[in-house]
Amino acid sequence: MNFFDLFFPKKCCGCGKFGSYFCDSCIKNILQQDLVCPNCEKNSIGGKSHPLCQKRYGLDGLWSLGIYQAPLKKAIQKLKYKFVSDIAESLIDLMIEYWAKYTPQFIDEIKKDRGEGWIIVPVPLYVKRQKWRGFNQSALLGKILASKIGLEYTEALKRTKHTKPQVGLQGWERKKNIKNAFSFNSKFLNPNSNILLIDDVWTTGSTLKECCYILKRNGAKSVWAITLAR
Ligand SMILES: [Zn+2]
Ligand SMILES: [Zn+2]
Repeated sequence: MNFFDLFFPKKCCGCGKFGSYFCDSCIKNILQQDLVCPNCEKNSIGGKSHPLCQKRYGLDGLWSLGIYQAPLKKAIQKLKYKFVSDIAESLIDLMIEYWAKYTPQFIDEIKKDRGEGWIIVPVPLYVKRQKWRGFNQSALLGKILASKIGLEYTEALKRTKHTKPQVGLQGWERKKNIKNAFSFNSKFLNPNSNILLIDDVWTTGSTLKECCYILKRNGAKSVWAITLAR
């Protein structure tokens, strides 16, 4: 136990038991529902876009650790609004454990073309909000994931427009709100890159879809959305 843990001991996000962010019994409540196609949100093996749903500048797949309910919901809220940043590492560990256990081929695939292959890109936060909050949770998650599985991490997107928080907006309002909110940081990305686009939650997908559009318009070959919850 380190000094920090002594004053801010880790508590389970499910039942409140001290010791870790997810105790052995609550960890089972991080439900990995069937994965869905990011376009029609109907079941799809591995979360891959159905061939008929695939759009030219659209996402190639969506993978989420679990559904947005306790204890995952609580963990994300702690990370995002209470700035408990070391929770990010526990969540990424769960993600990697899951891949290793159930879909080892996914790890093989993303690590296959190392160097010119899969790159981790976070959904950016508007500068003012990031200053106020102190960190971008998607960037934090992306950096941890990249270092743990040995992939490149790059901030290939910038947020150029201040948008209203998506919370409370309807689907079409979200889409309109987020339109043209991002721009491309060309110096950071080689053409033909395969990208894992990282965000904390998939709600309607409008933010991740808009980010994917910008990446693909700028030469990305394939883009998968990776989120903690959906
Ligand atoms: Zn618990
Ligand atoms: Zn589909």
